[in-house]
Amino acid sequence: MSKKTYTGGCHCGNVRYEADIDLSQGTGKCNCSICSKVGRHGAIIKPDAFRLLSGEESLSNYQFNSKTGHHLFCKTCGIHAFGRGDLPGILDEYVSINLNCLDDAEADVKAAPIKHFNGRDNDWS
Ligand SMILES: [Zn+2]
Repeated sequence: MSKKTYTGGCHCGNVRYEADIDLSQGTGKCNCSICSKVGRHGAIIKPDAFRLLSGEESLSNYQFNSKTGHHLFCKTCGIHAFGRGDLPGILDEYVSINLNCLDDAEADVKAAPIKHFNGRDNDWS
C-alpha cells in the first residue's frame, strides 16, 4: 500500500473532505474517554494532506481537558468525521481522520495495521 487520496465525510453529507493517507503507516484505536465513545478508528495526517471540500459552517467544535484536540462534529447528523489539533514537538499540527467515515476504503482499512493506544492513562507510547 502507499499514499492514496480518499474522500469522506459525515452521514448527512454536509461535511465532505479529501485526505491523502498511507494506511500502511498504521492506524490507531484508543481507549480514552472520547475515542471509546465515538468508536473511532483513526489515522493522523498533516494539515497539507487534508482538504475540506464543504461543511466548515456545519462543524461544531467540542473540547475538554487540556483542550488540545478539536473534536469536530456535524451539527446536523452528529458524526465526528475528522478532528484537528496541535501538539508542539510531538505531532505538531495534525488532522485526525475517522477512517469509518471514508468512502470505499473498507478493504484498505481492514488490511492496515492497528495500534491500540492507552489514551485513558494519557500514555501515547
Ligand atoms: Zn452531517
